[in-house]
Amino acid sequence: MNINKCSCKENRPPTAGRSGCGCNISGPKMPMDSFKVPAAPIGRPLGKVNENKEHQLASQSGPGKNEDKKKSWSLSDFDLGRPLGKGKFGNVYLAREKESHYVVALKVLFKSQILDSEIEHQVRREVEIQCRLRHPNILRMYGYFHDEKRIYLILEYAKHGSMYKLLKERERFDEKTVAIYIRDLTKALVYCHAKKVIHRDIKPENLLIGHNWELKIADFGWSVHSPSSRRMTLCGTLDYLSPEMIEGKPHNYAVDIWSLGVLCYELLVGLPPFDAKDSHQTYRKIRYVIIKYPDFISEKAKDLMGKLLVINPEQRLPLINVLQHPWITENAPEGAQPPAFNPEQK
Ligand code: AMP
Repeated sequence: MNINKCSCKENRPPTAGRSGCGCNISGPKMPMDSFKVPAAPIGRPLGKVNENKEHQLASQSGPGKNEDKKKSWSLSDFDLGRPLGKGKFGNVYLAREKESHYVVALKVLFKSQILDSEIEHQVRREVEIQCRLRHPNILRMYGYFHDEKRIYLILEYAKHGSMYKLLKERERFDEKTVAIYIRDLTKALVYCHAKKVIHRDIKPENLLIGHNWELKIADFGWSVHSPSSRRMTLCGTLDYLSPEMIEGKPHNYAVDIWSLGVLCYELLVGLPPFDAKDSHQTYRKIRYVIIKYPDFISEKAKDLMGKLLVINPEQRLPLINVLQHPWITENAPEGAQPPAFNPEQK
């Protein structure tokens, strides 16, 4: 395996057979003042840049949307609500912008932890990329600001939380529901790839569920602008990594097609296809594409997954053809929306 040093973001609880993160973070520590907040995204109305506070921007459909004047955000612009979740590098809170009453999720990251874990470049990339993307199935990032100790990301609020949590509650989803999620995720990936962005970390932990139960891609921390020969840092679970990634080979857009296939399987079955008792076994299963389908999986679903989970990246089904695959067109015709899940019913 030829994979860089880890800057761990292990969200999955270590389950039996889940290949855990073997990271060992070390290296020189950077002084606090070496932390640089990314440059403002291009093509958006730039806020008044303040050397200390940095800017943030009013956007067309976010907080501060009615303001003509350019905006520098700070914590005092928001009323903070309940915590929405906890990540490795900080917490996420429900928040409301005081003037517009626009509800957002505020992700608070600690600069010290980012520097210690040497993921400054990752945070910068996440912000630069996510601020520019506009798609109904991609979580909006409206902006960011920082103070001495923390960075605050102003995010679209996803009312129904993480896909990982929903999947654990329901154990697995029916084929129609999965087909709708896969259709919408495919559309979002088509959009990303057209913008030359490879996500590289599609998995249930990085998907959120919006107001109408729609899927939203979140967390662009591992994403890159294509083409990239950038090697991948092994982090968290191996389960979603493609054969070329685990072997440290150059990779391209096709890694997202592979993880689309892995996700389709995990949503239908409740476990990822290459799940094994240890990471060595998972690695072997990925390398030789050893998959077992439970009996309840339909032939058409198997056909689609078989066309996504292909060793040769060039031979994976192009995303545009995923949208035309019979399993998608029959189960998720245009206009079909994900069901509203009732927490009481399984
Ligand atoms: P993260 O640090 O991004 O891994 O987020 C930790 C947890 O916070 C997630 O698993 C979600 O449950 C929750 N969360 C993160 N972002 C949002 C959001 N935009 N809207 C609602 N919940 C969120």
